[in-house]
Amino acid sequence: NETPSRISILGSDSIILGRNLWPQHIIEQILRDVPSSTYVLISDTNIARVYTEQFQAKFGYLTGIIVKDRRPRLLTRELPPGEPSKSRQTKADIEDWMLSNNCTRDTVLIALGGGVIGDLVGFVAATYMRGVRFVQCPTSLLAMVDSSIGGKTAIDTPMGKNLIGAFWQPTKIFIDISLLKTLPKREFINGMAEIIKTAAIWSESDFRQLEASSSILMSFEKPSDMSEEALNIIERIVHAAVAVKAQVVSSDEKETGLRGLLNFGHSIGHAIEAILTPRMLHGECVAIGMVKEAEIARNRGDLDQIQLNRLRKCIMSYGLPQSLEEVGQACSIDRIIQNMMIDKKNDGIQKKIVLLNRVGSCIEQKAMLVQDSEVRNVLLL
Ligand code: NAD
Ligand code: ZN
Repeated sequence: NETPSRISILGSDSIILGRNLWPQHIIEQILRDVPSSTYVLISDTNIARVYTEQFQAKFGYLTGIIVKDRRPRLLTRELPPGEPSKSRQTKADIEDWMLSNNCTRDTVLIALGGGVIGDLVGFVAATYMRGVRFVQCPTSLLAMVDSSIGGKTAIDTPMGKNLIGAFWQPTKIFIDISLLKTLPKREFINGMAEIIKTAAIWSESDFRQLEASSSILMSFEKPSDMSEEALNIIERIVHAAVAVKAQVVSSDEKETGLRGLLNFGHSIGHAIEAILTPRMLHGECVAIGMVKEAEIARNRGDLDQIQLNRLRKCIMSYGLPQSLEEVGQACSIDRIIQNMMIDKKNDGIQKKIVLLNRVGSCIEQKAMLVQDSEVRNVLLL
């Protein structure tokens, strides 16, 4: 194994990216750098089935060697997979269970999973005894490049997703590309949408790499069939996306401006997702959102058609949709516009959208005000 790379965020080298880190490398680093009397590993059943036993066995073995005088405890818990687990009730259940197990303020939570587990466990960590340390071990591509980085934690409410939460930074983020081998292909493609988004707002050269990699990355039936060459490419593009996110978050942790650029495709994407979830995945809705939001910029004369086509082609080459018609879904335009009103990014009722001026760059370094009529025009097509 090669040594993993380190990426700095908010002034510390807390992101570790590589292959075959799970479980030994991660346990060794946690025991050394995030010492505790109690570790709490939380996962969902899809992931736990494959990865938890290995961790428990290695943990028992390694603690016997590394910290044999004061061996820490390991508690584990598995949740049902899927967005419904990101709820107030699940949060309360975990808290009550931790309290009944006498977890004190030195407890370290370990989130092993996709964005659902990461957001939920992060929020538990943010408020448990006024805040305990937590470690992110993202297992989905989306979690590796997006949700595990930046410290946004949240749960959903009946009124909408992610409405209750906190900024709470993980102490460490271990990104192990090898874990992607068990990820279903549709989930892999889902994560590609966020990677395309990040390159589109920030780096033309990262975007070019994505354009050049689609045929090899999409040639596999499922991630478990991926060649070493494909995994090397994935490692490179994940590294690039993580580096951009880390840089953007480091300059604007609480999203007062620059960090808002990462919402490209999300203003319209979220509004569609609210209607079509769980039939359509987040990344699929964001892909359509990116095309529509780029069309707003094109209609303003800020983005030329060639650049728009380039974005569309890249999205298509990763098997992502560009329009609702393409996936045989219809949404009322009024409902989409209505949903866009409760967007956290808006100023009051004025909608704000990230506008590109070419692939790899935005008109302004923040989201810009747009009129409802502009949104309506691109949705009509
Ligand atoms: P998810 O956590 O539901 O994971 C998707 C599916 O893949 C699940 O069924 C899961 O069990 C399975 N899975 C994950 N990794 C696997 C692996 N290695 N092997 C086998 N199966 C695996 O969804 P997600 O797409 O990872 O995350 C979506 C969530 O992330 C949403 O709740 C969204 O709001 C949140 N999010 C948060 C941020 C943030 O900044 N905090 C950013 C983007 C998205
Ligand atoms: Zn997203």
